[in-house]
Amino acid sequence: MSLVLVGSPACLLHDMDPEHPEQPARLHSINDQLLISGVELSLQFLDSQAATKEQLLLAHDKDFVEEVFNKSPSEGQQWLDDDTLMMPHSLTAALHAAGAGIEAVNKVLPREEECPEFMPVTTAFCAVRPPGHHAEHARSGGFCIFNNIAIAARYALEVRGLKRVAIVDFDVHHGNGTEDIFKDDDRVMFCSSFQHPFYPFSGTDTTKAHIINTPIPAGTKGSEYRELVHHWFAKLDEFKPELLFISAGFDAHAEDDLGHLRLQEADYEWISYELKAIADKHCEGRIVSMLEGGYALGALARSVLTHIKVLMA
Ligand SMILES: [Zn+2]
Repeated sequence: MSLVLVGSPACLLHDMDPEHPEQPARLHSINDQLLISGVELSLQFLDSQAATKEQLLLAHDKDFVEEVFNKSPSEGQQWLDDDTLMMPHSLTAALHAAGAGIEAVNKVLPREEECPEFMPVTTAFCAVRPPGHHAEHARSGGFCIFNNIAIAARYALEVRGLKRVAIVDFDVHHGNGTEDIFKDDDRVMFCSSFQHPFYPFSGTDTTKAHIINTPIPAGTKGSEYRELVHHWFAKLDEFKPELLFISAGFDAHAEDDLGHLRLQEADYEWISYELKAIADKHCEGRIVSMLEGGYALGALARSVLTHIKVLMA
């Protein structure tokens, strides 16, 4: 099965500081790994368009979107919040990162009248930055300007007419922005595993049945992690999503200094297979996976390769 890799050169333009962990080299390392592995020969590539304001409003507050556009600097830098910095090209990068999710949804859900020139695809990986899952309905946060996966999920529901979708987030940090956007929208099942206590110090007081938060103690290894998240699969099976989204952050890897979990590539392979089985059963195999965190460049690139290979299998 073919996979479409969605991205944009614009995502490389957002460059906060050579020392900043959320840096363009993350995408370069992923691309290098795909090239070296030979996998890229089997991939389809798609350049993303910039998301429109109307599409951003599927998940975000109008005043917040206007504030981001107004704050976008033509030179120098502008802080959006304590962690999130905008440079002159950051808005362009953020719009293309959000646009990638929408392109991916359209690619795995081709319209009937569309006659695909290429081999049809059921899975997509969006190699984009800035990441998105900390961006709330009306607030940026944690290196995230817009919530890429939330915009894509709402697009699938509101524009493409799906009734239920699921988002699984295995980044080391809680997907607080995604929870905020969908806390009152039970068309979306959201499963998030995250180191706790840890930034953004959220996710432990949730009472909604469609929000499934799984706090994980620092130092947890893959075998223990697998036991802690295993209950997700029965819940997803019961929910029967029509499209499965993955907030694919790889900063829970043992080599990643931004977190303190001990996952390895084999653990990402395991969870990718489990999620693919859910998608094969309920979603006609359709998965849209979007890059979130992951800052140890070697571990990030190897983990993404592992994840993509499963989605292609
Ligand atoms: Zn993270």
